[in-house]
Amino acid sequence: MELDNIAKNVERLLREIPEGVCVVAAAKSRTPEEVRAAIKAGIRIVGHNYVKEAEAQKPFLGDVEMHMIGHLQKNKAKKAIRLFRMIQTLDSLRLAQELQRLSEREGLYVSVLIEINSAKEPQKSGIMPEDVLGFLEGLKAFDCILVKGLMTMGPISDDPEEIRPHFRLTRRLFEELKGLNLPNVKMEILSMGMSDSYKVAIEEGANMVRIGTKIFGPRL
Ligand SMILES: *Cc1c(COP(=O)(O)O)cnc(C)c1O
Repeated sequence: MELDNIAKNVERLLREIPEGVCVVAAAKSRTPEEVRAAIKAGIRIVGHNYVKEAEAQKPFLGDVEMHMIGHLQKNKAKKAIRLFRMIQTLDSLRLAQELQRLSEREGLYVSVLIEINSAKEPQKSGIMPEDVLGFLEGLKAFDCILVKGLMTMGPISDDPEEIRPHFRLTRRLFEELKGLNLPNVKMEILSMGMSDSYKVAIEEGANMVRIGTKIFGPRL
């Protein structure tokens, strides 16, 4: 897409989105020039689906904050903890174990969101809503992992109203967990909503949205 249009899209989005809601630019399959245009127009966080893509783009993006928003494979965890300020997709204890082991060795902390499989789709990654409390308890010993909130995709649908109940459920979970004051768990960030669904997600309490198409245009 024309870089001017990307800038206009970002400006429009930032004007429209309420204060306190953070926009993550979902950068998959975009060129570094496109992502840079978005940053120049006011984007502060770039979301990547692939470690490789993030690595390739990093030298062109300055010191913008990068988040992992795609599924993270264990064998990419080492690169991921160096590249990303936050991993939004913690979805298994085995990945957590690996993140803990590597962070300990490197002497750093890793901030994460727990990915919730809010539509309970068996083929999708994410922790089932009813399992999240047990999952957090399983993380207790992992003192290098800082849980900052929840992330969800919801089901794929053209109709955001079909996704709304799943956002609502995730919000309820977020509030419940916040109330428990678990050690090493801060419920501050609720990441949900994409180009077609961010309005509904914000209505349902999202304070972080991940936007690709509405910034960069349709993926080719
Ligand atoms: C691609 C992607 C988005 C953004 O999707 P758009 O519909 O292009 O806005 C958000 N979150 C994740 C995890 C993605 O992979």
